[in-house]
Amino acid sequence: MTDSTELSTAANWIRQSSSILIAAGAGLSASAVNPQYGVGLDYTSVAAFRQLYPRMTQVSTMRCMYDAIGKHDWTPELMWGYLFTHVDKCRFNWGSTSVYQDLKQILSNKPIDSFVITTNADGMFEQNKFDMTRFLSTQGDYSLLQCLKPCSQQSVYEARPYIERALPHINPQTMEVPSKYIPQCPRCGGSMFYCVRGGEWFIESAFDNQRHRYRDFLHRAIDKKNDLFTIIEVGVGFNTPSVLRWPMDKLVSEFKNVRLIRINMHAPDVPVHARKEKRTIGFDGDAAQIIRQLRDMVIA
Ligand SMILES: [Zn+2]
Repeated sequence: MTDSTELSTAANWIRQSSSILIAAGAGLSASAVNPQYGVGLDYTSVAAFRQLYPRMTQVSTMRCMYDAIGKHDWTPELMWGYLFTHVDKCRFNWGSTSVYQDLKQILSNKPIDSFVITTNADGMFEQNKFDMTRFLSTQGDYSLLQCLKPCSQQSVYEARPYIERALPHINPQTMEVPSKYIPQCPRCGGSMFYCVRGGEWFIESAFDNQRHRYRDFLHRAIDKKNDLFTIIEVGVGFNTPSVLRWPMDKLVSEFKNVRLIRINMHAPDVPVHARKEKRTIGFDGDAAQIIRQLRDMVIA
């Protein structure tokens, strides 16, 4: 049971703020249950993987979606058969989910300056029709492919046409795609991969515009010293803490007009000094439930 006093304090911060930042990690998408599949997009869940990709448990050593990251012991045909299927299902067709819609309602309750920053490359905010001019995807986006060399910083391409060409030819039994559908860089003919932070090859400049807009937002929110600026951080753990977790700790520790609402089932701890000043609260319950309760209080 979540402390109702803390919940109403958090809801008041949101109501009184003129700027709100949503900082989202893997835990948010894990709680985004797709009604058709009955599971959230939880990369570490064996049950979700079995439900979404029953054949993959037969034809590969994979046990969960996270196992695809850095996986080397599969053929390019199986790798692309899986990756095309996965990105089609999750990046483009997961659709609208309650927890994302609740967050959107929190932001649209009244006119405020808002922004979303996320380490999730799954495009869930776009699928839930958030304002994409107020959005930064720090680790890349599965909707883009890029050259793996890369032969140029411009070698970034929409993934959708490659996926649409390949999907009808993926063998549902073996999960393999014929090699002629494996994407090659149109510039140099070399190997491609999704435009995500998977190594030195990541073409981060594809997200420069998003990053500039995020910096502008932060400056505006921090500069308004007499206005509250609330950060709602959801499901951000310690996989890549230097990207979201520590920067959010730093913001609430450094700037007195910042409030930090941290929702994290496993690691809800918050910076001590800011906690003593009653400017941050950590919730360790289910993200979807807490966000629903916050939404109900905020829009009441
Ligand atoms: Zn290339």
